[in-house]
Amino acid sequence: MTETTKDTTVVVIGGGVAGLALGNFLLRNGVGCIVLEKHSRAYVEQRQRAGALDAGGVRVLNEWGVGEAVDGYSHGDSDAPMPLLIDGEKRQWRSGDDDEDDVDGAFCPQQILVRNLIRVFLRDGGDLRFEAQDVALHDIDTGRPLVSYRDANGVTQDVSCDVVAGGDGYRGVSRTAIPDDVLTCSTHEFGYAWLTVMAGVPADPLAVLAVHSRGFAAQITRGPEASRLYLQCPLTDTVEEWPDERIWSELEARFGESVEPKGPITSKQIVPLRGVVFSPMSYGRLYLLGDAAHLISPMSAQGMSLALHDADVLARAIIQQVERNDSSLLDSYSDTCLDHTWERQASAVWMTRTMHDSGDAGYEGEFCRQIARKNLETMLEPATTPHPAAEAGASQSQG
Ligand SMILES: Cc1cc2nc3c(=O)[nH]c(=O)nc-3n(C[C@H](O)[C@H](O)[C@H](O)COP(=O)(O)OP(=O)(O)OC[C@H]3O[C@@H](n4cnc5c(N)ncnc54)[C@H](O)[C@@H]3O)c2cc1C
Repeated sequence: MTETTKDTTVVVIGGGVAGLALGNFLLRNGVGCIVLEKHSRAYVEQRQRAGALDAGGVRVLNEWGVGEAVDGYSHGDSDAPMPLLIDGEKRQWRSGDDDEDDVDGAFCPQQILVRNLIRVFLRDGGDLRFEAQDVALHDIDTGRPLVSYRDANGVTQDVSCDVVAGGDGYRGVSRTAIPDDVLTCSTHEFGYAWLTVMAGVPADPLAVLAVHSRGFAAQITRGPEASRLYLQCPLTDTVEEWPDERIWSELEARFGESVEPKGPITSKQIVPLRGVVFSPMSYGRLYLLGDAAHLISPMSAQGMSLALHDADVLARAIIQQVERNDSSLLDSYSDTCLDHTWERQASAVWMTRTMHDSGDAGYEGEFCRQIARKNLETMLEPATTPHPAAEAGASQSQG
C-alpha cells in the first residue's frame, strides 16, 4: 500500500548530528522539513561514537539558538590539565592556541548531543520519523524530487519536496543517488588502525594522549562513568587478538604508568584511519552533508564539527532560497563545503601523522619519526629539564 503523505520543503535523510542539526536550524526559521531516520529513537539515543566537539561546532549550535544541546559539557575553562605522555614523560599542550575563540569546545558524548537535538526538535514541533526503512530518492534532477520510504507499520510513504538533504552517514543511500560518472571519491589511507574500546570507567583527566614507541594511545571521557580507549594497531589486527587484559596492559605500557580504575569493556572495534572526500557534494536538488560526503581521521576529532558546518551552510542556503527566491548559496553549497572540508582534512592529516609517526617507527621509519617529533614539539610547552647550572646551584645549597 502506498500513501502520499504530504509535500514539504525539505526532506532530511538521517537523524544523526548533521541531519538533526539541519532540521533544528530550518524549523527555527519556519522552513517545513521532515527528518527520516532508519533506526528507532532508543537505538540512536544510545549509539556511542564521538565525544569531543570543537569550538567551531559549539559556535554553530549557539548561533542557531541550539546551544542547549551541549549545555554543561564545556571544557575550555577546565583547570584540569590534559597531558600528553611521550614515552612516559608528562608534557603539556602549549596554552594560548585556543584563546582566540570566544567559545569553548565541549566533551559531549555523541549520543547525548543526538538525544538533545532530538528532544529540542520534537519539543519545538519538528516532524521526525524513526524506523523509516527502504528510503529511496527519485527525480532529484527535477524541480520536484520525491522521497519514498516504508514506515514503522510497513506502509510505503511518498513525500515530495523542493530539496533533499542527505545526512545519512558514510553507509547511507543518499550518495548512491548521484550518478557514478558525476561523483568522485578521493581517499587517503594512513596505513594503520585504531582499536577503539568503550570502557565503563571515568577518564581523569578528561583526555590523556600518549605517543610511544609501541604506538599511539589515548583515554578520552565519554561522560562521568565511561571513557573511550584508543590503541594504534596494524590494519590486519582483529578484536579477537585483543582480550580485555591485553588492552589494559598495553594502555599502561604506552602511558608509562598504571591506569586506574580499570573496569568493564563493553565494545571493541578496529577502525582504519583514513580521510575520504566525495565531490561534488550536491547533484540536482540533492545536497550531501556530514559523513555522507566525507570522513575525517578521528585523530582530529572534527567529524561532528564538519557535519555541523555543512548543516549551517545548507540551512542558510535553503532559507535564502525560500525567503528571497535566491539560489546563489545553494548553487555554491558544494564548493563552499568542499573548500572547508579540504582545509580540515589538511590539518587532520598533519595531526594524525604527527601523533602516530612520532611514536612507532615501524610504519614510516626513523626519519619520519624524528620529523614528527619536531613537529610535535611546536605544539607543546617546553620540557621542564632543569638547566645544569640550576642543578649545580641546588646541589651546592643542599650540600
Ligand atoms: C572511533 C571514532 C571516534 C570519533 N571521534 C570523534 C570525535 O571525538 N569528535 C568528532 O567530532 N567526531 C568524531 N568522530 C566522527 C563522528 O562520529 C562523525 O563524523 C559523525 O557521526 C558524523 O555525523 P553524521 O550525522 O554525518 O553521520 P552519522 O552520525 O553516521 O548519522 C547518520 C544517520 O543516518 C541514519 N541513516 C543511515 N542510513 C539511513 C537510511 N538509509 N535512511 C535513513 N537514515 C539512515 C543513521 O542511522 C544515522 O542516525 C569519530 C568517529 C569514530 C569512528
